[in-house]
Parts: sequence; C-alpha cells; structure tokens
Amino acid sequence: MSNISPIVLGNWKMNGLRAEGDALVRDLLRGLAGHPGPGMVGVCPPATLLTTMSDLLAESDVALGGQDCAVESQGAFTGDVSAPMLRDAGCQFTLVGHSERRHGHGESDALVKAKAEAAFNAGLDVVLCIGETEAQQEAGETVAVLDRQLAGSLPEGASSDNLIVAYEPVWAIGTGKTPTIDDIASTHAHLRGKLKSLVSTGADLPILYGGSVKAANAGDILAIDHVDGALVGGASLKADEFLAIVKAGQSAKAA
Ligand code: PEP
Repeated sequence: MSNISPIVLGNWKMNGLRAEGDALVRDLLRGLAGHPGPGMVGVCPPATLLTTMSDLLAESDVALGGQDCAVESQGAFTGDVSAPMLRDAGCQFTLVGHSERRHGHGESDALVKAKAEAAFNAGLDVVLCIGETEAQQEAGETVAVLDRQLAGSLPEGASSDNLIVAYEPVWAIGTGKTPTIDDIASTHAHLRGKLKSLVSTGADLPILYGGSVKAANAGDILAIDHVDGALVGGASLKADEFLAIVKAGQSAKAA
C-alpha cells in the first residue's frame, strides 16, 4: 500500500444506491483531475456497488476498498462477503475492525485479526481500525485500549507495505466531536512507538486519524506529526467536501 502521505480514504458505510455512487465517483474523478497527487485516495463503497465502482475507477489512481470481510473464503455463511470476493470485485484493500463492526456486531480482537489475515491471504491490503469508547477516554484508558487492540488484532505478516492503522476514537465517529490537536498528536506519537516495537517496518507504517474529519478541520489534523492521512465517513459522501479534505491534506503535508 502507498506510504506517501496524505492517504485519504472514504468509508461510505451503508450508503449509496447505484445512481448516487455513480455520481459521487464521477464527481470525485473530475475533481481529482484538477489536483492529482501526492498521496493516495481511496473509497470504500457498500459491497453492492464494488464492481460498478471498480469499472468507473479502472483508469484512475483512486483505490477501491471493502468495508469488512469474512474470515472464510466461501461456503455457508449467509450475508457475508469474503476477501477473495472483494479482490474479485476489484478491491485493493479492505477495512477491518471498524468500530461499527467491533461494537455494533460484537467483533473481538481475535476475529478482527483473523479477518485481516484472510484479507492478506486474498492479496488485499488492510486498514486496521482501532479506537477507544467515550467511557474509556474519560477514564484515561485510551493508550491502554489501543495497545490491547493492537496486540490482539495486528495480523501476522503485517508490514508497512500491506497494513495501515486507522485510529478512530469511537466517540468521535459521526458525532462532530474530535480530540484536541494535542491529544491526537500524543496518541499518534504513542502509536508510532508501539508500531515500531511490534513491526520491523513500523516507522513507515501509515497511521490515519478518523472521526468527524471534514474540510474545516482536515488541514490542522493532517498537519500533525505521525498523522499520515484520514479515514473519512460522513464527509466522504459529498464530493466537494471529500475533495477539499484531500486538498487540505496535500497542502498540510507539503508545508
Ligand atoms: C468512520 O466511519 O470511519 C468515520 C470516521 O466516520 P465520520 O467521519 O462520519 O466520523
């Protein structure tokens, strides 16, 4: 996976019918032609749109990702989508461990790790999401929670070539609330140190921030040391807003 910052990824979650996804991606491609690179841009549409989006993105540098994958490759797992299926649909990467999976679907660190390893086995890169809840943050447990999640869900074979870590405080996702710049800086500095101790290429492993990133705060957040990009939810559904985040990130990293 690219380790040229900024890496800006849009997580569409369960949003987008065909016409909406089509219009959003066409607007993105038009906008990106006006300010291409440096860095990497990717989108994670719902599974129903992956093949259509793959066709639309084929001639572009925009990467395509899944939002989750199953541990198994195929079989009697109604409703699940496997990593080989994501690959077959045109994905280069997948998210795993998003808080809406960990908390909404009770996914454990061990399950997230198995999903990440299934993704590697299918030739996909992985964006491993971690983050503390509001109660854990208020109790001063942020770093301990992140260390535990990393210890439990970091896949075997992880390197700066195939893994991105996304730090997403659960209480900041979709709420309009964000940690202070100082808090993001100290958490990312901690994560950098931790990744260096866990992975031989940890110094180069991209770390994204996610949680209520929008055009208005992207420049400040993406200027922070060890923030190599952003995982964007709600704001990735509006092409202008997402493009403004990409642009703010590029300016912040160029400064
Ligand atoms: C997310 O879902 O990964 C996310 C960061 O959402 P939002 O940007 O809407 O907070």
